[in-house]
Order: sequence, then structure tokens, then C-alpha cells
Amino acid sequence: MTYAQLVVNHEAQAMDRLFTYGVPEGKTVAVGQRVKVPFGQGNRRVDAFVLQVTEEAPQDLKGLKEISTIFPESYFEKEHLPLIEAVRSRYLATYLDAVKLLLPKGLLQGMTYKTSEKLYFARPGEGKYADPRYQSILQEVKAHPGEYIKADLVRMGFSQSSVNTLIKHGFLEILSENQYRVNRQSYPDYAPRVLNAAQERAVKAVTDTPGTYLLHGITGSGKTEVFLELIRRNLEAGHDSIMLVPEISLTPQMIERFKGRFGKDITIFHSRLSDGERHDEWHRVRQGRVKIAIGARSALFLPFQDLRLVIIDEEHESTYKSEMSPKYNAKEMAEFMLERKDGRLVMASATPSIESTLRAERGEITKLELPERATAGVLPEMEIVDMRAELMAGNRTIFSRPLMAAMTEALAKEEQIILFLNRRGFSTFVSCRSCGFVFKCPQCDISLTYHRDNSLMCHQCGQRKYLPKTCPSCSSKYIKQFGTGTEKVEEAIRQAFPQARVMRMDRDTTRQKDAYETMYQDFKNNRCDILIGTQMISKGLDFKDVTLVGILAADLSLNLPDYRASEKTFQLITQVAGRAGRGDKPGKVIIQSYSPEEKAIVAAKDHDYAGFYRQEVEMRRMLQNPPFSKILQIILTSLQEEVLIKNIQILDSVLRKYLIKYDKIIVLGPSPCLISKIKNQHRWQILLKGDIGEETAQAVKELVQSTLGKAQKDLKVSIDINPNSM
Ligand code: ADP
Ligand code: ZN
Ligand code: ZN
Repeated sequence: MTYAQLVVNHEAQAMDRLFTYGVPEGKTVAVGQRVKVPFGQGNRRVDAFVLQVTEEAPQDLKGLKEISTIFPESYFEKEHLPLIEAVRSRYLATYLDAVKLLLPKGLLQGMTYKTSEKLYFARPGEGKYADPRYQSILQEVKAHPGEYIKADLVRMGFSQSSVNTLIKHGFLEILSENQYRVNRQSYPDYAPRVLNAAQERAVKAVTDTPGTYLLHGITGSGKTEVFLELIRRNLEAGHDSIMLVPEISLTPQMIERFKGRFGKDITIFHSRLSDGERHDEWHRVRQGRVKIAIGARSALFLPFQDLRLVIIDEEHESTYKSEMSPKYNAKEMAEFMLERKDGRLVMASATPSIESTLRAERGEITKLELPERATAGVLPEMEIVDMRAELMAGNRTIFSRPLMAAMTEALAKEEQIILFLNRRGFSTFVSCRSCGFVFKCPQCDISLTYHRDNSLMCHQCGQRKYLPKTCPSCSSKYIKQFGTGTEKVEEAIRQAFPQARVMRMDRDTTRQKDAYETMYQDFKNNRCDILIGTQMISKGLDFKDVTLVGILAADLSLNLPDYRASEKTFQLITQVAGRAGRGDKPGKVIIQSYSPEEKAIVAAKDHDYAGFYRQEVEMRRMLQNPPFSKILQIILTSLQEEVLIKNIQILDSVLRKYLIKYDKIIVLGPSPCLISKIKNQHRWQILLKGDIGEETAQAVKELVQSTLGKAQKDLKVSIDINPNSM
């Protein structure tokens, strides 16, 4: 008998083990196939996936069950097993989590193709079927083979029974076709540019030698052109390529360029696809109909047969680290996948992560540089405005005097302006001036944001309510709003420049499916003078007529309690500034700040990546922060705060006792998370910092599970390695 080891799609899989089942006599199964098996005491039929097939009988044959249904399709191959294993061991994920990464969303719910019954002409009508009533139908179908289904003809006025008769007697033929759900919009050709010397060098280096590369190219240096050329060469050699972008830079512009260059050979895989569209695109890849994919993080796991090139654009972005299980890092996984195939990984950015530059310095990866803009343009002129001095001079508005002057000038010259503020809403918090009451979300531990429609909104759980006229605590009428969001900026701009055409781009204005695209086209076609936005506008946008960029509050990200706060601030300023002066007209950037001496702000002003890097890497080394250590974050959540605190204290003492033998790991906490309550779930964490290897992490995971195993059901635990936020 043959036996199969399966990953069962059932909650019990939180236990994370494989189950052995017998393969029915005369049947075969292979790795990657979907099956159904009787599971648990009730023997309910549950979906499962084959991970191993063996002839060797398990030690304990008692109670062995058999697979009940075998589906023909297979979803992954033997070659994928190391990947599943790696996701499991590196990120402390379960088998099921890891397998799900390889499957299109929707498949687990049994999704299949949408099929349609297309009509084709088979033979001319004869005898009584030569009658015009039949002839007209036959002619119509003959002229449009495969374009109609039955319902179309009926809608056109043909008789349903005549159509049925023609099908029945074989004059018309029906063929079932898989219908692809993806919109096949075509794009104008995007012709290749003649590469400049730096671009040429980068392309040659990557083409000549497999390995991992860091492409450091300033904003506007033509990185995209390098990507396109590398992909073209890889395609020419018959191999597959994946291009990863942070979701926010999957702009219409990027899509236009890639579609315009590669046409049908490419699939665009992003979060706005429906489950059906994802399913179909996944199958197009699996069938080898497309050779190139561009998409967010999860596109890395599309089932290409011969993946040899992965490009990760804006490699410094945190979106490459998943915050949902499995909590993988796409950069690490891409490297893992390609190393085993002698492939090429290109990580690109204008502001590379500290980690990648350090790796390049250590010689682990190869650095390539594009130090100049590809077009005639030079980098924009940068100016820092000290907002404390503005206050002293009596200016209490959002806009400093230099920014006002620059905006007036740009508008007069009919040039475009981008204003950046990484906060949506109108005011960021509301409080009572009599008693100090602050409006907070009843379910989450954050203050509510005031929106212009007179509502208070929780940016964590989305709950909304109207702002009351009096204070809920003391009934006073002195309710005041503080802080500035993009809505307030919009209002202030409309007051200051009533004749200017203004647009705001943030999560509130881009909810509708095509809103982003429409705004993008409007701005590109000069139907707008001032674009106000959150980090949505910080990258990917290449508009020729933008000459002024205003960064309204450069310090916002500096104050986060995160060792990366400085790095993020530097990156954000540089990226936003990079939107200015991309055409022939020179650009100017005004950075408003209350801490103008901060190194991240000064270095960004000076376009000084190297200087920033040197200071920052030293700081990390001194404080032993990543990349000089790893951080393992254990978050406990519960509806009941006392239960939570009691358990996390127990866990804390168990961990400290266990970790005594590891003198290179320190334990921090337990303490409430930055947002200590979300949707009524209280959240506390323990952080381990230091030299944490895979085995240590596994041991810690097991210890956490055994310690909390007997605790109350309501308690949830999540473990993350080098998380995005702490
Ligand atoms: P990045 O991605 O590095 O910010 P892009 O790839 O968007 O830069 O290129 C910036 C601009 O320069 C684009 O308008 C692009 O068409 C143009 N460009 C890139 N490479 C060349 C080249 N070799 N010759 C002429 N123009 C180029
Ligand atoms: Zn009050
Ligand atoms: Zn909330």
C-alpha cells in the first residue's frame, strides 16, 4: 500500500503536524495534489494537500484512514517542499500557513474557472434548415466564430428554439471555454530607451553573474529602464521573471510601462484583483502562458516553472515583510528561492535599507550604482524651514512663509505642486479645554481623528460617530481640535489660492475602484495644480511639470518609538522630494520641521545617503539593534486585561529562566503594545533581542506554547521575527 502525508485544512492544524492516510488500492497521488479525507471523530470530509508519498508503512497502522477523493489538479511540486519547510522554520509558521502561500486565494473555497459555452458554425444548413429563419442564425455565427453564447443570440432577436434545433442537429457547435476574468486592456507601446553608461554597466553586471544585487539609484536615475531590460533578456533566454513593488507604487504609470513593453507576456497581480481574477491569473502562470509577473509581496509565490530573476523595487519598504501568518520576509524568501537555481535577485532603491547596504559593505551582495538622473534634470534644490522660527515670527498657519512664496511663484508660472503630509483626516485629536477629556475610540486605545464631515473616526477599527456639541465628561462647550491632517491642508489651500485646482489623494479619497487612476490622469494631464497627499504620493509618480514639493511636517515619523524612525524619515523625505524637477524645469523642495537639526532631515536635504548611512549604522551597532541583532516579538491578546497580564507575567518568568544560558539575548518587557487595545482586545508584548538563531526561535516558540497551552481559550499569541512595528 502507498501512504500519503497530508496537510489538512482544518483549525486543528494550528497544532502544526502532518497526517498519514492510506492511498486507495489502484489509485495514485503526487505531491501537491488536493484530496479530501475523513477527519476527526465525526469523520467529516476535509480538504488536504499531499506533501509526501511513501511505500513505507507508518509504525502505527491502527486506525489508519484512507483518502476519500483525489482531485486531478496539482498545486505545487516536489521542488517547493524546501520552500514550505523554510517558511515554517524561519518564520515559525505552520505547514498549513506555508502551503496556503503557494495557493491562489479562493482555491481553498473550491473556486474553479468561469466557463462559457461559445457557439461555432459547423456546417451549412440543408433541407428544411436552409430556411432563412435558420440561415440568418448560421450566417451570424459564421461571421463571428466563438463570440456568442446562446443568450446573446436570443438577445439579438433570434428564436431560442431555432438556435437549439441547429445545435441539436449539429449545424452549430458548442465549445466550452475557460473564460479569463482579467481585464485585457491594451496599452500603447513603451519603446526601449538607449541605456546610458551607468544603466548599461548595471545590466551587464547582473547578466554576467548570478547572485544578489543592490541597485542604488537616485530618484529619476532610470532604475525602471534597467528592470525592463533585465526582464527582456531573461525572457529572451526563455526564463521567468517576477518584479515586486510595494502596493502603493503599483501605479498606473508602472503598469503602463510594463504592459507597454511586454504586452501579453505579463500578469499584474495586485490586491484589487477579485478572488476569481487571482485564481485565473495564477493558472495562466502555472500553464506557462505568461512569463513575467509584477505585483506586491505575494506575487513571489506564483507558480512559475523556471524563475531566474526577481526584482524588488523600493527594497527599503516595510511591506516586503508580511504582518499576517506566515510572517515571512519576501526579500529573504526571494534570495532563498533563487540561490537554489543560480538565479538573480536585484533589490533596488534610491534609499536602500541600512541592512542591505551593510550586506553590500560586507561583500555578501554586490552593489551597483546609478548616481545621476537619466534625463537632463538635476536633483532638486532643498530648503529646510525651521517652524519654531515661524511661530516666533507670529505665523501660526500650516504653511511657512517660504513655502507660501514658492507656491505663489509656481502657480504664477503654471507649474505643478505636490504637498505631502502623512496624516489623513482634518484634525488628529479632539479634546475638551475645560476638563482635558480626549475623545478616544471605545474599542481601541487611540484618539479619534476629526473628519470634515463632522465625524470622529477611529483609524484603527474604522468606527465613526458624530462629534457631540458638549463634552461627554463635563458638558462644557469648549471642545477644541488639534493637529493637522490632509483635509485641513486642502481647506487651507483653497482659502489661500481660491483660483487653484486642488486634489487630495489619501485613503479617504481613493476608496472607489478607479479613483486613484482618475486622479492620476487628471494630474498628469495638467487638470490640477496642487496635489495634496499622504505617503500614497511618495513614490512611483513621474510627472514632468512638478517643480515644487512641500513636506509639511517632516518630523512626524521621527517621534515613533522605533529604532528605524530616523531611517524611515530620511527615506520618506528623499522619496517625496524625488517627485520634484523630473522634467526640464528645475525642482525645489521645502521641508518644514520643528527639529531642523536632526541628522535624518539634514542628510535628506543634502542628498547625502552615504553620510546618513554611516551615522545610522554606527548607532545601530552601538545599541545592538538590527541588523546587528534579531528581535523576536511575542504579542499576547485577550478581551480580559487581568487574564492577559497574569499570563504574560508567567510567560516572562519562564522565558527569563530559560534564556539565562543565552548571554547574548536580552528580554524586554512585558509591556503594553504601542496601541494597547484594538477592537477590545488588550495587547501586551515581550521582546527578545540578540543573537537569535532559528533553533533558539523554535525552542522559544515551543516554550511559549507549552506555557500558555493550558491557559484560557480567550488568550491569543502571535510570534514575529524582526517585526515591522514594536
Ligand atoms: P527611477 O525609477 O530611477 O526613479 P525612472 O525609471 O522613472 O527612474 O526614469 C526617470 C525618467 O528618465 C523617466 O521619464 C524615463 O523615461 C527616463 N529615462 C530612463 N532611462 C533613460 C535613458 N537611458 N534615456 C533617456 N531617458 C531615460
Ligand atoms: Zn470636559
Ligand atoms: Zn477603534
